[in-house]
Amino acid sequence: MLAGRLDLTTGTFGMQEIPIPEPGPGEVRLKVEAAGICLSDVHLIDGTLPVKARRDFTQVTLGHEVAGVIDRLGPGVTPWQVGQRVLLHAGQVCGKCQPCLVRSGECLRVQTRGVDYDGGWAEYALARQDTVAAVPEDLPIEQAAILPDAVSTPYAALLETAALRPAESVGLWGIGGLGAHAVQIARLLGAAPILAFDLLPEARARALSFGADAAFDPREEDLRDKVRRATDGRGLDVAVDLAGVPAARAQAQALLGPRGRLVLVGVTPEALSVDNSLFFCTLMQQVRGHYGSTMGHLLQLVKLTRHRRLELSRSISALLPLADAPLGVERLAKKEGHPIRLILKP
Ligand SMILES: [Zn+2]
Ligand SMILES: [Zn+2]
Repeated sequence: MLAGRLDLTTGTFGMQEIPIPEPGPGEVRLKVEAAGICLSDVHLIDGTLPVKARRDFTQVTLGHEVAGVIDRLGPGVTPWQVGQRVLLHAGQVCGKCQPCLVRSGECLRVQTRGVDYDGGWAEYALARQDTVAAVPEDLPIEQAAILPDAVSTPYAALLETAALRPAESVGLWGIGGLGAHAVQIARLLGAAPILAFDLLPEARARALSFGADAAFDPREEDLRDKVRRATDGRGLDVAVDLAGVPAARAQAQALLGPRGRLVLVGVTPEALSVDNSLFFCTLMQQVRGHYGSTMGHLLQLVKLTRHRRLELSRSISALLPLADAPLGVERLAKKEGHPIRLILKP
């Protein structure tokens, strides 16, 4: 089968023919119908998100946003059937650490699909049965595919890590794939006002059309005054960096109000600094790191989407054949056409 593989020793990415995998005990095999391209895939390929090769693992199939149809069951799989439409969680708990053994839900070694094991940029993908969720009949498979990261990561970040409450103000930096959904989710959770920040005019226009109350160019003058005016002189209750950009983080932190929370969603190995640690303490501000989401968040989103609380049809920017994965990565890296999500179709 065709698969988009990253060589972890040389850092090269390309399409390869590899054997169709056989599902092991407790696993299902999926005929992949849609797989999203995420900015973190771009960063895995360009090397800014380094992954180390291990003795048993020198290449990986990318793709952590995956949906399709179950085509084979491994031994001992009970709740699933061949022919069911499903989406895959973007990761899995290790199942072996102490918190996993007592089912506390706080795994010490969470593994990411398409990073720590083979993902879905392929004609077929394997998934452990506890990482599979049913796709409702009326939810298009391309929209289902993006729930596991582009939607669920900002959802978990705002709901859990930011602990966003109704009527709190929120600032969102980077209105790309995750940010476009963060705007809608902030709206769903009752945030007010919602302020969007992006260098690109197209992204700012998108933020406004998706429900932001105001959108700013981060280079604008008097931004501090504008944010203060928009938040009744208070500053932001929640500021989220969705881009993993140090300048965005610094600006977001400087615009926090009393007890404001800076939430880091975009991933980068770059250093993080606090502008004025005296104010940071006396205003009781916090910085909170965020990563991914849980299966529970994913099931909530399936339900919210089914009941039309989220509209994802605008999120699918283009469909590409699987063989064009390298082209898709390039398009996203260059922000050609300002895509929210490009979807690979095997
Ligand atoms: Zn991602
Ligand atoms: Zn674990």
